[in-house]
Amino acid sequence: MEAWHPDHHKDPAKNLAGRLLARLKILAAAIAGQCGRRLVIMEVCGTHTVALARTGLRNLLAGYIDLRSGPGCPVCVTAPEEIDYMLLLARQEGVIIATFGDMVRVPGSNDSLEKARMEGCQVRVCYSPREAVELARANPGKEVVFLGIGFETTAPAVGLAVKEAAALGLKNFSLHSVHKLVPPALAALAADPDLKLDGLLLPGHVSAILGRRAFNFLAAEYKLPAVVAGFEVLDILGALLELLLQIQQGKTQVGNAYPRVVSEGGNLKAQGILREVFALAPANWRGLGLIPQSGLKLNTAYQTFDATRRWPLELKPAPGPTGCRCDRVLKGLSLPTQCHLFGRSCTPLQPVGPCMVSSEGSCAAYYRYSRGAG
Ligand code: SF4
Repeated sequence: MEAWHPDHHKDPAKNLAGRLLARLKILAAAIAGQCGRRLVIMEVCGTHTVALARTGLRNLLAGYIDLRSGPGCPVCVTAPEEIDYMLLLARQEGVIIATFGDMVRVPGSNDSLEKARMEGCQVRVCYSPREAVELARANPGKEVVFLGIGFETTAPAVGLAVKEAAALGLKNFSLHSVHKLVPPALAALAADPDLKLDGLLLPGHVSAILGRRAFNFLAAEYKLPAVVAGFEVLDILGALLELLLQIQQGKTQVGNAYPRVVSEGGNLKAQGILREVFALAPANWRGLGLIPQSGLKLNTAYQTFDATRRWPLELKPAPGPTGCRCDRVLKGLSLPTQCHLFGRSCTPLQPVGPCMVSSEGSCAAYYRYSRGAG
């Protein structure tokens, strides 16, 4: 995506973006004047975090809106002890670990799966969960363990892979599910007295699965305005404008500024797979801690594929990397640039914490696009 600039006069879409931006700034300044502070708006999607940085919108709005990034990167919110568990499995005889690429470099309490791979352990990167099923089929003498990470967007494909493994009668495939659900995390953020959020930009991809009305609780229970946003400049500006208009008018609603993709009820087929394969469970989020009913574990019909039942290894809660402030960054309490390791000992080439590892992590996005901005 080309970096956007308000002087793009010749292109009608860019010109419209310039007008929206100007209106947004006037509105934000007027509201800030009334309440004596900038509004605090959080985006809770890693793709939004990257889009806000890459298009320059975060910097352009910095004096008007306090835009905070939340726990929207699934790799980043995976707790260190989950990675420690996968490291223990990787070091078992005859085990192949399969996972998505970003996970390989994320540190547990000490090591990463990349380190285990360098030691000679079998750690494979998969681009889809079905590849892990294929891997199990092709290696009947090995145990293939897939590390399932991601939110409501990724979990249905993983659920399908488990169903496929069941249909094939595979005995050497299992899943360690650290899938997490976005609405319970939003409830925890909305209730957090340290954050004092004025509004939420809701994740377009997750909303496409769950539907807009899955977020009605934010307005009903927490009196927090929220708007579903897409990922282009006009989508984000339109959603922010809708949020600010709600706030100016004293409304608390859950709006949808991405109706071309997000419906009221979401993707019923994907929801059906989630219900069929998974059950709700507590989940430990890096940065947010333990949140009840915010995770997905395999339900009783599929629990023979649950890696934690095959290898019930004992794990202790693990600290994150020394000096890393990912916990605060993921909660919107610190900017990446407020970490003293940022850009010094922690860079995308040599990341210290998960928010610098993942391409959707806040620290990586700030490093690539916003260095020097604060
Ligand atoms: Fe952690 Fe690096 Fe981000 Fe600091 S800059 S919070 S060490 S990932």
